[in-house]
Amino acid sequence: MTRASESENWAIVGGGLLGMTLALRLAEAGRQVTLFESAPELGGLASAWRLGEVVWDRHYHVTLLSDTHLRALLDELGLEKEMRWVETRTGFYTDGQLLSMSNTVEFLKFPPLGLVGKLRLGATIFYAARVKDWKRLEKVSVAEWLRKLSGRRTFEKIWLPLLRAKLGESYRQASAAFIWATIQRMYAARRTGLKKEMFGYVPGGYARILARFGEMLEKRGVRVHLKHKRRKVETETGGALALEFEDGAREAFDQVVLTVPGTVAARACAELTEEEQAKLKGVQYQGIICASLLLKKPLADFYVTNITDSFVPFTAVIEMSALVDREQFGGHALVYLPKYVAPDDAMFDLSDEEIRESFLNAIARMYPHFERSDVVAFQVSRVPYVFPLPTLNYSDKLPAMRTSVEGLHIINSAHIVNGTLNVNETVQLAEKSAARLLSQPERDVSREVAARVAEEYEDEAICQPVPGP
Ligand SMILES: Cc1cc2nc3c(=O)[nH]c(=O)nc-3n(C[C@H](O)[C@H](O)[C@H](O)COP(=O)(O)OP(=O)(O)OC[C@H]3O[C@@H](n4cnc5c(N)ncnc54)[C@H](O)[C@@H]3O)c2cc1C
Repeated sequence: MTRASESENWAIVGGGLLGMTLALRLAEAGRQVTLFESAPELGGLASAWRLGEVVWDRHYHVTLLSDTHLRALLDELGLEKEMRWVETRTGFYTDGQLLSMSNTVEFLKFPPLGLVGKLRLGATIFYAARVKDWKRLEKVSVAEWLRKLSGRRTFEKIWLPLLRAKLGESYRQASAAFIWATIQRMYAARRTGLKKEMFGYVPGGYARILARFGEMLEKRGVRVHLKHKRRKVETETGGALALEFEDGAREAFDQVVLTVPGTVAARACAELTEEEQAKLKGVQYQGIICASLLLKKPLADFYVTNITDSFVPFTAVIEMSALVDREQFGGHALVYLPKYVAPDDAMFDLSDEEIRESFLNAIARMYPHFERSDVVAFQVSRVPYVFPLPTLNYSDKLPAMRTSVEGLHIINSAHIVNGTLNVNETVQLAEKSAARLLSQPERDVSREVAARVAEEYEDEAICQPVPGP
């Protein structure tokens, strides 16, 4: 490492977990780092907010036992040992009925499918969990692949509603690598030598993780600037890169890393070539409208309830209080109702009141014991760019992380090529990218975590026959 590179001045734009982890690793390697975030707090998609009297994640978040990159980071933050691990149950709302699908016996009893359908569904999941060559699956449409493996009826009864739930009508453009990555995540524990998959959380949620992370960044000398929205980035005479902010302020750096969505990054830098612009804008995103409800009593005891009935205006019911101790929510139940939509969907124009009406009507129909007076608080989060659609041959169309503009790098969730969007993948991407930016070998602390976890959970059994959202 040369003295010149050590004194390099780096800017990271985007204070989500990707930008935060990158900032930490660059600062640990002796670089001067400034982190810019447009929101008033760190954390991006994982940030927390106040819902009534409760402070918890704006979007539902769980950690899996096999999330070794994230767990290694939590260990550095001194929080990993506090994690609570819970075996949760999965529900299915189908043909007007709420059914449990939490173990093999319930799966075999599941009424909407006949025995042959169940066997084919089980065989599809078993097969997908064992496929190694994901690149091959990028060439095949997910609908075609699942229809062939599971049969038409199982595809229409189970897979199609699940695909529509996450991808909307864009499921037609998605490749089989999407469902492969989803199944791989749910069965990752087995790949790492564990026989069981459990869901975990840190008491206090991401608010606590992010606060501790912010302190760590400060200790390592990272300057954190909140409420700083980057408007553009351009080369100055002399070669430095200038960042210009919404309030007109400018600051120059040797190296800039944008961790924001590709389309947003493309708009910021006019010096990128036409080909780079086209690749960045070519990544199609899926957005989300996610309602949080604080309730006086629980709806059911499923962490995830998948929905196959079309009258329901949301994608799934995520009952966080089926996982997290209700004492964390002042004794209340916390429920998320997500709806994944395209960034230009008309649903983004609905008011909170309109969303509340339509969502609560559906909840009342699904759960007969639910009363409107149970609702203590209701809030809506809207994000137009959440994750890139895994279209056919996705990895061949990816924009490069290092751009043609000297010193400018664009790294974001679009670079998670063979996985789903989750914090473990985000942290792993940050660790890999930091090593590349610093021309250093990648640290693999996560291996130690994997070995420790495998020892702790060696003799346990399995659950979760169908992956949730
Ligand atoms: C509904 C939902 C459920 C999820 N569930 C889970 C789960 O159960 N488990 C799990 O592990 N993960 C889950 N995730 C995924 C997890 O939240 C992401 O993996 C992670 O937060 C991505 O971090 P990021 O830094 O890449 O992106 P982001 O969090 O999007 O960070 C980008 C940051 O850039 C900032 N920014 C944008 N434009 C500008 C600008 N012009 N100037 C300055 N700053 C800017 C944004 O404000 C944001 O803070 C979920 C996500 C969602 C939405």
